[in-house]
Amino acid sequence: MPIDYDKLQPVPQRAEPYHIVVTAAHHDDIEFGVAGSVARWIREEGATVTYIIITDGGAGSNEPGITRADLVARRRAEQIEAAARVGVRDLRFLDYPDGCLQASLELRRDITRILRETKPYRVICQDPTTVYVRGQYINHPDHRAAGEATLYAVFPSAETRPIFPELLAEGYEPHKIGELYLNLSLTPTHFQDISDCIELKLSALAAHESQVGAGEDFENGVKKWLLAGHRDGGKRVGVEHAEFFRVMKFDAERASWHEDET
Ligand SMILES: [Zn+2]
Repeated sequence: MPIDYDKLQPVPQRAEPYHIVVTAAHHDDIEFGVAGSVARWIREEGATVTYIIITDGGAGSNEPGITRADLVARRRAEQIEAAARVGVRDLRFLDYPDGCLQASLELRRDITRILRETKPYRVICQDPTTVYVRGQYINHPDHRAAGEATLYAVFPSAETRPIFPELLAEGYEPHKIGELYLNLSLTPTHFQDISDCIELKLSALAAHESQVGAGEDFENGVKKWLLAGHRDGGKRVGVEHAEFFRVMKFDAERASWHEDET
């Protein structure tokens, strides 16, 4: 079904500071997907942010001769720099093997542990229901697995005491999350105007040199493509550049089962 852009709402601005946890399968997923919004929420709303990078990034090159260990180390350094450029310094690397991720109970527990420790109001993950994108792209199975594990860490695992009793033994009490934002969603409900932070987003993305290239390669390749996409999306909702999310709010007043989906 095509997206009805007229129905999308702007992400409401929050008055009090809050914590955000962003999960992603790979080392550049956050920069491609949501770094503009993250930069904006840090600057405009005083948000603090934790990134969870689930895989080790070791499958991010097809070049013969590059060892997996070298690539893992390089990508970790690139991710730390990318995060610093938007103001994020709390990064957790879970180091699951890149390319073979599954939404296992072990992964769900690892994410739940960090949610209980850092107590976010908002969690951002990749939409696990996205499979086919515009007849051109099969969504990477790691993205879907990362999204599914996060979804079920948010509910029920983070807030339910008897699930993962070993976490209680480690001292992690249950925590209820307020909102879940899904990116790379084919059914978005909200958009965030990132016009003020587009340069920061591009700068963060450029830190992933092993993935996006450098100099002219970056300028005429990934940067051009990404900017065009944000401009196109922005135009459809009346701003210069936008990122899109499907939003679930768990602290809102309960809607009737029969109310329209928004
Ligand atoms: Zn990815």
